[in-house]
Amino acid sequence: MADEIDLAQQHEELFRELALRVARRHSRSSSSEARRCLDCDEPIDAGRLALVPWATRCLDCQLEAEARKRRA
Ligand SMILES: [Zn+2]
Repeated sequence: MADEIDLAQQHEELFRELALRVARRHSRSSSSEARRCLDCDEPIDAGRLALVPWATRCLDCQLEAEARKRRA
């Protein structure tokens, strides 16, 4: 019985460690890669974000939005 409890605890620790790793990887990738465009919900190009860190739209939608603004 004690062995089963030990085994169960080992499994629990292993599982927790794995879950932590997945969660860390997930939070890292979502903070670095996934800024999405307000309009089309596509990921904003990393090169564009490097040049324009405050960008909320992809280049296409930004141009479209500025064209709309100019027309208005
Ligand atoms: Zn877009």
